[in-house]
Amino acid sequence: MEYVSLTRSLLVSRLCFGSLTVGPLQANLPVERGAEVIAYAFSRGVNFLDTAQLYENYDYIRRALELSGHPDVIISSKTYAYTKELAEEAVEEARRSIDRDVIDIFMLHEQESEHTLRGHAEALDYLFECRERGIIRAVGISTHHVAAIRGVLKLGLPLDIVHPIYNMRSVGIADGDASDMRAAMSDAKSAGIGIFAMKPLGGGHLIADAKAALDFVLDTDCVDAVAIGMQSEDEVDANIAYFESRKFPPKAEKALAEKRRRLIIEDYCQGCGACAKRCRRGALSTVDGVTVCDNEKCVLCGYCVSACPVFAIKVI
Ligand code: SF4
Ligand code: SF4
Repeated sequence: MEYVSLTRSLLVSRLCFGSLTVGPLQANLPVERGAEVIAYAFSRGVNFLDTAQLYENYDYIRRALELSGHPDVIISSKTYAYTKELAEEAVEEARRSIDRDVIDIFMLHEQESEHTLRGHAEALDYLFECRERGIIRAVGISTHHVAAIRGVLKLGLPLDIVHPIYNMRSVGIADGDASDMRAAMSDAKSAGIGIFAMKPLGGGHLIADAKAALDFVLDTDCVDAVAIGMQSEDEVDANIAYFESRKFPPKAEKALAEKRRRLIIEDYCQGCGACAKRCRRGALSTVDGVTVCDNEKCVLCGYCVSACPVFAIKVI
């Protein structure tokens, strides 16, 4: 496994375990089972895991750390908080639920531009204060918008990390394409900010072309590490094999080629529209009480799943 300096003090495996996939918004594995998969990745040298307050999977991570004997792995979380109080709640929830005094990385979730950064200034200032106090080691933002990285640079924010969506077909990049995102990431990197990319497979859309899609991201100089969602030991093995040799084992290649991910809206949907409000990609719309998904816009993140009061949405 290759390790890189994401910041001056954070040495991470280039492969980051994207944990959204094991939890309630996606595979919804039983906690013990999801924890076993995460612990397996730790045992194979992955020392970097990404989560979020929204993912509701801190109990998986806590259990994985217990199963692994509390290894010195890097945990990254994020929150939509925009006030100091909400940010404090988010940080304390993570520390309490994961049972760790220090959360290595804390980010503002899904920032869009200098305007949303200004709107979240109170929360961001609180995260900087936590960094001063040593209960967070690095502060960042996650984003699907080129303009958010440009905003960080324009405002001169003292961030350690940005976590942008980046893939070869520009899937999910809200305001430009992969070359725009690469230019913004490169400028951020030159400003001393660590880059930890997400959705190299476009949330599953590029899975049949996984090797080319991952080559594209790993060959981008300014990308330090990449978060990839995994749901089983076989997927952990396949990704580790790829990161070590730039090739998937033949069995994994076949499984990836056959894998299709999609979003399902069950017919007991009540047409309330709550999911459409949650989706920031504008992929969901409710017409005459029927909710439909625009697959061109959907990045299969599963964020809409928890917004549905009747559990009618599934990402499989
Ligand atoms: S429809 Fe749901 S899964 Fe698709 S992008 Fe929107 S929030 Fe994510
Ligand atoms: S939140 Fe659930 S019930 Fe409401 S429109 Fe969406 S899928 Fe249907």
